[in-house]
Order: sequence, then structure tokens, then C-alpha cells
Amino acid sequence: MTKKEKIDQILLLLREQYGPTRCYLDHETPWQLLVATILSAQCTDDRVNIVTKDLFQKYKSVKDFAEADLKELEKDIHSTGFYHNKAKNIIACCQKLLAEHNGEVPSDLEALTSLAGVGRKTANVVRGNWYGIPSIVVDTHVKRLSNLLGLTKNQDPVKIEFDLMKIIPEDKWIDINTQLIAHGRKICIARRPKCNECFLLTYCTGGQKLQKGKII
Ligand code: SF4
Repeated sequence: MTKKEKIDQILLLLREQYGPTRCYLDHETPWQLLVATILSAQCTDDRVNIVTKDLFQKYKSVKDFAEADLKELEKDIHSTGFYHNKAKNIIACCQKLLAEHNGEVPSDLEALTSLAGVGRKTANVVRGNWYGIPSIVVDTHVKRLSNLLGLTKNQDPVKIEFDLMKIIPEDKWIDINTQLIAHGRKICIARRPKCNECFLLTYCTGGQKLQKGKII
């Protein structure tokens, strides 16, 4: 089986199992998605969704966040962790959105990554999930599973993103993130991947090694 055939099978099986999935962070506007994604660093999506439910009732616009009191915002987002940096970045990010983008969230990668607290991962979440621009988001699930499945040998998220862009058709870039997250949560759980139950085992280099008792 060629590498392309293997990747096609993996993509087909992921789609059959999880379908076209949606972003796990609750949001109704692009700026809400941007703020939620900044909050999601080192935090679970479930926790972020709990916090943003009240947060977006209190701060109803980019302007509200731009004018927020740092200490108060820190308290509001405390349970997501790293609250000081996150609060500082959200305020600075929204101030720049107001000053340079008329309060709108840009879709351009360079403009997005010039905002405080916004790296390629966050920018790609917004580009893919809000603007529908093909983008690959490399989070911990995508990083781990891409290595296990033999799609990359890199550990650096940006290198992985470029590796995946080369081998995955563009129309699958948005879904691959949410599908791999779903798989990482249900079957390929970080500390105890359920390889015996996994529909990808035939195509998974890491899973086959684990089956033979090899440490990977
Ligand atoms: S075969 Fe095992 S290691 Fe590979 S994706 Fe499935 S659960 Fe993960």
C-alpha cells in the first residue's frame, strides 16, 4: 500500500466514524471564537465553554474586552489557568482589533498572528472554523496522533502543520483537527490508547508497535 492509499483510508475511516465535525469551542461570533481559543491554551474545551458561557454575557463586544479591567478579567477567567497572561493578551488583542481592524477579526494569517496571544494554532482555528479557509490546527491530539499514524516524524507543531499540508488534501484540512480530537478522546487516549478497538490499527504504525509491546 502506498503512503497516499494509507492516508486516503485513514481520512475515509475518520470521516465515516466522526463525520464532518464542528469546533468544540462554543461561540457565536469570530471574536468570541478568538477569545475562546486564547483561553483554551493548556485548558480543556469543556472548561473554556463553562467559563465563556458567563464571560460572553458580561463582555458583549470587542470593545468591552478592550476596556476590561485586567484584575477583574483575571478573576473572570481564573479557572482556565495562566489567567494573568491570558487576560493581558485578550485585552491587548481586542485593543488592536479596535485600533487597526475596526473591531473586526481579520481572516489573514499574518494579521491574526500579529495579535497578542495569537499564534498559528489560534489563527488557524479562526480561519478554518469561522472563515472556512482550509487550515490545519495542530493541537496536542493532532500532534500525538499524526506521529502515531506515521503522518509525520516531527514534534514541532509548525513543522507538523506543514507536513500534513503536503499529504492531506486541502478540502480535509479543517475536519482533520476535530476528527483527530474526537479519536483522541474516545479511542486513542493519551495514556492508554485502545488499539484493540481502533478502526485505524491496520494503518497505524504506532499502534502496531504498541501491539507488539514496543515502547514508542
Ligand atoms: S491504533 Fe492505537 S495508537 Fe493507532 S490511532 Fe488507534 S488507538 Fe491510537
